[in-house]
Amino acid sequence: MEQSNHYDVIIVGAGAAGLMCAIEAGKRGRKTAVLERALEAGKKILISGGGRCNFTNTHITEHAFLSGNPHFVRSALSRYTQYDFIKLVEDYQIAYYEKKDGQLFCRESAKHIVEMLLAECLKYGVTIVTNTKIISVAKEDEFVLTTERKEFRCSSLVIATGGASIPKMGATRFGYEIAEQFGLNVIRPRPALVPLVWSDREALQFSMLSGVSFRGRVRIGETRFEDDILFTHRGLSGPAILQISSYWREGKEFEIDLLPDTEMIFPERSHQKISTGLANLLPRRLADRWCEEYQFDYFVDQCTAEQMRSLEMLLHHWSITPQTTEGFSKAEVTAGGVDTDELSSKTMEAKKMNGLYFIGEVVDVTGWLGGYNFQWAWSSGWASGQYV
Ligand SMILES: Cc1cc2nc3c(=O)[nH]c(=O)nc-3n(C[C@H](O)[C@H](O)[C@H](O)COP(=O)(O)OP(=O)(O)OC[C@H]3O[C@@H](n4cnc5c(N)ncnc54)[C@H](O)[C@@H]3O)c2cc1C
Repeated sequence: MEQSNHYDVIIVGAGAAGLMCAIEAGKRGRKTAVLERALEAGKKILISGGGRCNFTNTHITEHAFLSGNPHFVRSALSRYTQYDFIKLVEDYQIAYYEKKDGQLFCRESAKHIVEMLLAECLKYGVTIVTNTKIISVAKEDEFVLTTERKEFRCSSLVIATGGASIPKMGATRFGYEIAEQFGLNVIRPRPALVPLVWSDREALQFSMLSGVSFRGRVRIGETRFEDDILFTHRGLSGPAILQISSYWREGKEFEIDLLPDTEMIFPERSHQKISTGLANLLPRRLADRWCEEYQFDYFVDQCTAEQMRSLEMLLHHWSITPQTTEGFSKAEVTAGGVDTDELSSKTMEAKKMNGLYFIGEVVDVTGWLGGYNFQWAWSSGWASGQYV
């Protein structure tokens, strides 16, 4: 074995979490390498937020994360906060702005975030090896990683290979396989922050609305999001739908409130068709198709109190049962992953295997849309970086 291939810390995956962990390990004087399968580091960061990277959110709270253990995120998020990352961004004089609801984006390009992370890695002597495929991982007195070209050894091994979303961007199941190899439970990964697909029946009823969008409120149980909803040719998308998709399960329904801010839909009983009146509140095509489908084909002033109640009820509680999601190829993130019960929430180290760490999206932690997933990557990467 060449001595140069021996490191204190090897991190697999040069994404958001892996690079942050590498910086922190490097700061502590640990000899650190990051092994990346792709030709360059941080590819997902580059395409994130429409190329502007929504790198964090000022409203970070543990309630914005789904996980088998909802408290798991608390420790890392409280020790490396959104303000710590904002300070790093400001130190590098990267211009940013708040788009809405606390979502912070680069003003110019996501590439400034990648350049910042790589500059920090360089500053702290981190080695980044790209275009490297790992063939096997074994545990002897140390971890031994066999790649196509050479062997690497390390005392701390960090898996930061992300989720299963967007395979064409290089997502692999490697992280889950390593977890299983070392006897750790993996919660079945599933697409999240993903468009939903109509059932056959709903497709016949509503696919002609493709391109229509409106602001609505979606709900599953106590979980609600109010934002834009977009009809696509296959189903529903837009931020509100992506958010609720993370909570939705196959075979289940969810509700849309088409008019969340309107209590009395027709305060005046004027002589106009219901669809005409609704077209003042909703896109015309939606109002027409919806009234046709649910047979509200009469005039407002002719409605009985019972009919008006049922109209209002349906508008505020429109129940949809999608067939499925658009899958990993369209999912922004992956829900599920390495079971948080298997990991220390303080260090991210596996309880059953000293020296083995899991960080970022490969872990069963999924944030809301709006910069939450990157904050989890920074915080979990930082937390592990203090101990590896
Ligand atoms: C289109 C899109 C836009 C997004 N926009 C945002 C946004 O604006 N804000 C936000 O908060 N979140 C956003 N996300 C989610 C966010 O990108 C991820 O949650 C985040 O990147 C996860 O960080 P990570 O380091 O865990 O994984 P990743 O960033 O996915 O990094 C994992 C790395 O591991 C490498 N890898 C995988 N397998 C192997 C292997 N076997 N060997 C070596 N290397 C391997 C990958 O090539 C990759 O470089 C977006 C996601 C997508 C798909």
